Amino acid sequence: MKRFENKVVVITGAGSGLGHAAAVRIAEEGAKLVLVDLNSDGLKKTEETITQKIPTSEILLVTANVAEESEVKKYVDATIEKFGTIDGFFNNAGIEGKQNLTEDFGTDEFDKVVSVNLNGVFYGLKHVLKVMKEKGQGSIVNTASVGGIRGVGNQSGYAASKHGVVGLTRNSAIEYGQYGISIKAIAPGAIMTPMVEASLKQIDEENWEEVGKEFVQPNPMKRFGKPEEVAALVAFLLSDESQFVHAAVIPIDGGQSYKY
Ligand code: NAD
Repeated sequence: MKRFENKVVVITGAGSGLGHAAAVRIAEEGAKLVLVDLNSDGLKKTEETITQKIPTSEILLVTANVAEESEVKKYVDATIEKFGTIDGFFNNAGIEGKQNLTEDFGTDEFDKVVSVNLNGVFYGLKHVLKVMKEKGQGSIVNTASVGGIRGVGNQSGYAASKHGVVGLTRNSAIEYGQYGISIKAIAPGAIMTPMVEASLKQIDEENWEEVGKEFVQPNPMKRFGKPEEVAALVAFLLSDESQFVHAAVIPIDGGQSYKY
């Protein structure tokens, strides 16, 4: 399948986890890629993985902090300068933050998580939508979470920011559908990425793998999701095949969020 030939796709958080997996998948389907992350070493690893598989890939790396609007504008401007357009946008960078009861959560920690997960997604939408509206087409996938559609606990900043991502998704979908722009969110459950590994290590640094096995027992599929499974969904949602899937928030969680 080559759904992204002659298309330009921007991916934030592309230096690890879901962003890395989506970059590889979408490159395999022919896209020109702009990969954005705070971590330039992670970005280089993603580029290496892609160029080993597809030596002809066209890739622009941009080290940027999505929590700073000026840096978001920088990656959008760099994309236009290099490739002249944006067809797809995976607005994905995010952090979990420290787990704690609300009373102990910490105002600075709350602000930090919200500034990356919510402000970062808003800035991305603001600057990318302008480009797509002029063009009269485009696809956007925002990364929410099951923590954006259900209560999880001990995650004030994460829950607030991911519920906010769902709100931003629905709001901009209502505004921009008429301009040919399809906007949706994914709500992943526990997918085994460095973020989840770090989260399990917060519970038990030494025995985190055992903690992980216990953690997935309540899941109907009794396992973690794979980044490649999320990447396949994101590729579909960014492709022309799914344009009428709009304003939707799609769980990818082994059924967990539907369990009573
Ligand atoms: P990850 O930690 O493996 O990757 C996240 C990437 O985002 C990292 O490369 C990191 O450097 C980058 N990043 C963090 N802050 C940034 C910033 N301010 N500016 C630019 N880049 C920044 O995590 P992941 O699991 O791949 O998570 C990706 C997204 O998926 C996040 O939004 C996360 O909340 C969401 N999510 C993940 C899971 C899961 O189980 N893995 C579940 C639900 C939602």
